This record gives sequence, structure tokens and C-alpha cells, in this order.
Amino acid sequence: MPVRPAALLVLLLALAACQSDRAPREAADRPAHRTALSGAGADEAGADAGGAGGLDLALPTSNRALLDGRPEDFYMGVSVTIDSLRPAKWEGGQYGFVRDPVPTVFGFKTFRRVHEGLDIRPTGRDAEGNAVDTVRAIDAGRVVHVNTAGSSYGNYVVVEHTWSGSPVYSLYAHLAEPYVAVGDAVGRGGTLGKMGFTGRGLGRSRSHVHLEIALLLNRHFDRWFDQYIGTTNLQGLFFGTNLAGVPPAELYEALARDPDLTFPEYVRGLEEGYVVDLPGGAPLDLLSRYPWLGPDAAATPPDSVAAWRVAFTQEGVPIRVEVADESVPRPTVEGVSLRIWLGDRSTNRMLYRRGVSYEPARRGYSYFALLATTAEGAPAW
Ligand SMILES: [Zn+2]
Repeated sequence: MPVRPAALLVLLLALAACQSDRAPREAADRPAHRTALSGAGADEAGADAGGAGGLDLALPTSNRALLDGRPEDFYMGVSVTIDSLRPAKWEGGQYGFVRDPVPTVFGFKTFRRVHEGLDIRPTGRDAEGNAVDTVRAIDAGRVVHVNTAGSSYGNYVVVEHTWSGSPVYSLYAHLAEPYVAVGDAVGRGGTLGKMGFTGRGLGRSRSHVHLEIALLLNRHFDRWFDQYIGTTNLQGLFFGTNLAGVPPAELYEALARDPDLTFPEYVRGLEEGYVVDLPGGAPLDLLSRYPWLGPDAAATPPDSVAAWRVAFTQEGVPIRVEVADESVPRPTVEGVSLRIWLGDRSTNRMLYRRGVSYEPARRGYSYFALLATTAEGAPAW
């Protein structure tokens, strides 16, 4: 596939110019997008557990400082300075590009690595310094995974929720002890375990719960894992790579502003980072769970699809799927956001810049292959 810098540049500029059409940025602008999708999404409201359409999420511990405007009391930061402009350490507990800072040619910092959840600090400690907080489910659901074996997440629990008809997963990591088992039904605010510091690189002083709210990327994860990783996977479907975490704090804040907000609206309204075309012809497993990512694409027979055009956030969460007209032999970057283009190049190492265009990095090919994996296996890209 020849690189087409001119075409890419045009697409890039078009992306920048059409951002309001393609991905509404503000909650207030969302209805325009909702109208376009209302036909296929008509069952959204009725399928929500809350009934009225929006989500009603609980925080996972009794720490409510996030919603009280005291982030420094909510987040458990990292123990190193993040950068000279942000000396306060709590920022490292946020979702997004908050880890592994590197200098850029312009003298400011960019961040290579994504923190896919948020880290909530304890509200109390016992005489030994252990966190006393109970970790609770953010919504009603079913426990689908409990890990007590080796993982950088330490002991963690995954709960499956049904939001707008789709399975969405909340993950609670670094627990001292899980109190639930796979198959347990939990209510909103139901007890899951005790906060701790299990997992990689934590000590008692950094006890916290790491919360993710995530899409499941592929039910055929084991096929991809065998081919691309090749070690033993103790976590099954609920290995971190197979869960694409959305920004949790922004979801709570968006729901505080607009209680009618649905999860599909939230995801589709996230800011676009880059767009990649994937070879068509085979189903995209993701669409079977989240048809609201692209109602037209979900309704198109996969064997008639030339290419799947997938928009991602800068952190790598898929937020929209369309059908593209031209086939591609391998994942092809169709455009990147102005933010990435103009200097903050972080794409979680998924893409790299080559001249005026972007191409998937090795890590990007691997990630896009996970999206494209079917029951037949993972594509070799
Ligand atoms: Zn974390």
C-alpha cells in the first residue's frame, strides 16, 4: 500500500474542520449526534437498569472528594514529580496520559503511557497503616472475574453491567482481599472487597483502588493472545489489554451535569484522536456488543465491507465505526487529530509519524489485530 501523504494531509485537515460533525465534544452539543443515531438506538433508554435512560453510578468507595471539587483528596498520585508545570502529585492518579513524561522539541512534556483508570486514595487507615476502605460496585451487575494470581493489577474483580443493552465492565484493582466470587450478583454499592496494595510497584503508603470502566474488545481474545503474546494467560477475557477503559471521572462529572446521559452517548462524544481503516470482509466482534458505535456498519454484512473505519480516542478507545469504500491490505491511518499533529504526539505508542503522515507502530498493528480477531484467528500484521 503506497503512502499517500497528500491525501492524508487533506483528510487530516478535513478531520480538524469537521470535528463538530464527526464527534461532538461538549455534552451540550450531543443531541445533534443523537438524532442521527436515534433510529438504531431507540432501545437505549428502555434497556437501562435505571429506566429513565441515564446511568446512576455510585462511587466505588466512600471517598466523594471528586464530586466535591477536591481532586487532591480523591486521587492517589504517583510518588515522583510528573512535570515541572504540574508539581502536585495527585495528577498521576488520573485517567489518561499522566505517566512516563518525556520532553518534546518545544520544551514541554508529553506522556507516552496511558493510565487506563483512576486511582482513589483511602479515606482512613488502621493502626498498621492499612487502608480501611470497602470497595463497592459502581452499579448493579454480575461478577465475571476474580483474580488472585499474578497480575500487575494484583487482586482484582471485574463486574459486568448491562448499560443501554450492552455489556460494560467495571474493574477494581489492587484489593487486599476480594469478598466475591465469579457468578455472584451484586447490587449498586454492593461490597466487592477491601482496598489494598497488591500488584506491581505499590507499597502500603500507596494503597488505593484502581477503577476502570471499560468496553470488552474481543470475545476471541485467546486466539489473539496465543499469536501475539504466547505466554500463559491467567485472566481469560479479562486481561487488561482486552478492556478499553473510558475516562471514569469525566463520566461521573458528565452524569452530574446531565443525569439523562447514556453510556453510548458518552462514548460517542469522547474526543477523537485518530482514525484507522482495518481490512474488511470479516466481522468486527466489537460491533456485536456495541452496535451503537456504528449502527450503519453494524447493519452491513461483513463480507461486503471493504474496510472498517474505526475512530479512537487519543488513549485508544474505539468510539465510532463506519464502513469505508476502499479496501486496505493492512491497518492504515486515515487521520489524526490536530492535537496529535501539532505536537502532543502521544498515541500510547500505537502510531508513529513518518514525514507528514502517520503509520501504525508495531504495538498499533498488534492492537488493531486484536480488534480484527475472529473465531478463525488473529490476522498477522
Ligand atoms: Zn491505577
